[in-house]
Amino acid sequence: MRKAADECLLCRINAATKTNSHILPRFISTGFLGAKGVPRKGYLLNGKNELTSKPKTAQDSPKEDHILCDECEAYFSILETASAPSFKFWQAKIAAGEFKEITIKPFLKLVQLNSPEPTVMRLLVYSMFWRASISSTETFNSYKLDPELEESLRNNLLEFKALTMGDLDAHVKAKEIILHPYASMTSGSFKDETANVLAAINAENPASLHVDKFGFYIFKADKDVAGNFMADFTNVKTSDNQIMVVSEQIWYSVMVKRPLEMAAEQAKKNLANPK
Ligand SMILES: [Zn+2]
Repeated sequence: MRKAADECLLCRINAATKTNSHILPRFISTGFLGAKGVPRKGYLLNGKNELTSKPKTAQDSPKEDHILCDECEAYFSILETASAPSFKFWQAKIAAGEFKEITIKPFLKLVQLNSPEPTVMRLLVYSMFWRASISSTETFNSYKLDPELEESLRNNLLEFKALTMGDLDAHVKAKEIILHPYASMTSGSFKDETANVLAAINAENPASLHVDKFGFYIFKADKDVAGNFMADFTNVKTSDNQIMVVSEQIWYSVMVKRPLEMAAEQAKKNLANPK
């Protein structure tokens, strides 16, 4: 268990005084729990519990004490505040002509965002992967990114650390972020709004995170994207800021059924080779 006197895992300077830090931003990770006022349940998959017990249900998205200092937590809140409307209201923003939607295939569209600033969106995605990798909560403790990638994400996050939106804008204008290509995925509709999952199972290259109605993939480097089915839809360049929107059926196979299968496979392996 981490203590308040431990060093903040992001800045490694201040004491990690913050309690209840969400590993995944709350705005994006609690829809699967169902509406407020009715019994809330969601499934957390970590490739460990899935065979030996029922899938773990949760009342809230995972939180952890003493991983961050107050400042670094406030910085992540700024990234979240800047990005939340684009995740929550992308469909309304397309309707309003703010975001552009391009049809690629009958089952695949691409939404080009014009907010937040692409580097701010990239920092938010980096922060989710970094938080999942450093977290030792039950959901994330076996999820560990390649150490080089994890450290690069930390350095980039730290390089742009800001305590106000104005400071963040200034950093974004003045600095270059190191590019690890990432892809984001969602669907326009879901078979069952509460049947989505939070899953951190695959920390390979690309690593993936399943966060309720959004899926995220991160590659270590440009060369790793080549040949991947998402290659053309990945955010490779600094200015890229797009989200893949797949059909309800593809979403279900890739983002709900597949993580359940992967979690079961991982649980089988863990059962055969207990650590
Ligand atoms: Zn800190």
